[in-house]
Amino acid sequence: MTEATTLPLRNPRTGQSDGELPVTSAAEVAALGVALRRAQPAWADESIEQRCQRLSALADALAARREGFLDTLLADTGRWHESQIEVDGTIAAIRRWVQQAPACLAEKPVQQEAIPFIQTQQTWVAFPVVGIISPWNFPLMLTLIDAVPALAAGCSILAKPSEVTSRFVPLLREALEEAGLGEVFALVTGAGATGQAVIEASDQICFTGSVATGRKVGEACARRFIPASLELGGKDPALVLSDANIEHAARALAWGSFVNGGQSCMSIERVYVEAPVADVFIAALVKEAAALELAWPDPKQGQIGPVIAASQVALVRNQLADAKAKGARALTGGELIDHGGVWCPPTVLVDVTDEMTVVADESFASVLPVIVVADEAEAIARANNTEFGLSAAVFTQSPERAQRVARQLQAGGISINDACLTGMVQTAEKQSFKLSGMGGSRMGTASIRRFVRARALLINTGTASPWWFPAA
Ligand code: NAD
Repeated sequence: MTEATTLPLRNPRTGQSDGELPVTSAAEVAALGVALRRAQPAWADESIEQRCQRLSALADALAARREGFLDTLLADTGRWHESQIEVDGTIAAIRRWVQQAPACLAEKPVQQEAIPFIQTQQTWVAFPVVGIISPWNFPLMLTLIDAVPALAAGCSILAKPSEVTSRFVPLLREALEEAGLGEVFALVTGAGATGQAVIEASDQICFTGSVATGRKVGEACARRFIPASLELGGKDPALVLSDANIEHAARALAWGSFVNGGQSCMSIERVYVEAPVADVFIAALVKEAAALELAWPDPKQGQIGPVIAASQVALVRNQLADAKAKGARALTGGELIDHGGVWCPPTVLVDVTDEMTVVADESFASVLPVIVVADEAEAIARANNTEFGLSAAVFTQSPERAQRVARQLQAGGISINDACLTGMVQTAEKQSFKLSGMGGSRMGTASIRRFVRARALLINTGTASPWWFPAA
């Protein structure tokens, strides 16, 4: 069977195909890998300050094309407000790395060891080619979030964004050329086969996407003995405890569950609320949810954009049907709306059980099941009763209770009295638990250490060797 050379592009607002995406063949990806490997040593030889100058130039080049990026992201994702946050947040993240990277990568001076004539020096060696494979929900941000620290570390980059949302690629190539990064950053387009070719051509992989694909990526990397950072799916719980500020919790959770139409890895997808405050919390949440409007027909009006990926439509529809068949009630929303493209109105579900797919599986949509629990212990146990462990949220007015509960949750980022802070605050280190991923922290300064290998220089300053073996 001959491989497709193009893939159809779909506009999620209309549901219509309105363009074609070129598919980079495996041979082309391999050739790019060779060119990147050839260019990388000179890039790594530049000082960290020189590399950061070019990253600053990249931030400038993105800012100069802000409107263009917004247009491509709007065409691919159908949403406007989140695209602004995405472009501005990406530029800000690059500027933050420019500030932080030099200190992170500074080599330590030569150390005297306990043995008087032995000294050591710790050095870092960048991986030559870092492959990036990214998803469709924040296409630009999730293509650059790992690429920028890797570039700062001295790696070259081979990136493949999602085939669902690659319209920004030509503009990003232009910005990379302008910043003088064209030789060390190649972008390819296509679906899974192109992704596999990226793995074959790389020395390390940063993958963001579903657990199912992450498993394939992890297996392919293991076969090649190359490290893989896997940032995967979640089913993030929020715990609303009896002493929470209920109005505040409802507002935060409506935002944390429905922003970007729920299509964020750190979206809240389950709420466990203690019985004494359940009725008042549910009423407040429903009020917040019902006040949100679809961003239709004008993408600049309303808060809820379309379901971005066509493949998501059936998944969400099936989860809603399964929940209703098993006795759940939608207090607002509950049905997908077809405007050509498909919208999921903010949906609050009650009378849900753990057997429903909407409670057990990732939804990646603006659907929020609310489960009433007897007490804090039940809330913690049920929040942890999942194969995922990305993030979570706890609402209580007691700082001690917040600490006690947060420390028992099996997830890498816990927002306290807010939701989804892990998406907004990128300085604190966090790792994924359970099937939500593996690898070092993508956040905080530790992120950059993923892209270098430690090399020790072990120096004998003048004693005859082998000094460690008794003379004959
Ligand atoms: P996906 O797994 O379907 O695809 C992700 C990427 O992998 C795409 O670029 C795709 O082309 C590529 N791919 C597909 N098959 C491949 C293969 N066999 N080998 C190599 N690459 C392959 O995910 P998606 O639907 O694009 O994104 C949604 C998922 O991403 C959700 O599960 C969401 O939770 C997750 N996500 C996680 C984070 C995080 O930081 N943890 C962030 C955003 C999204």
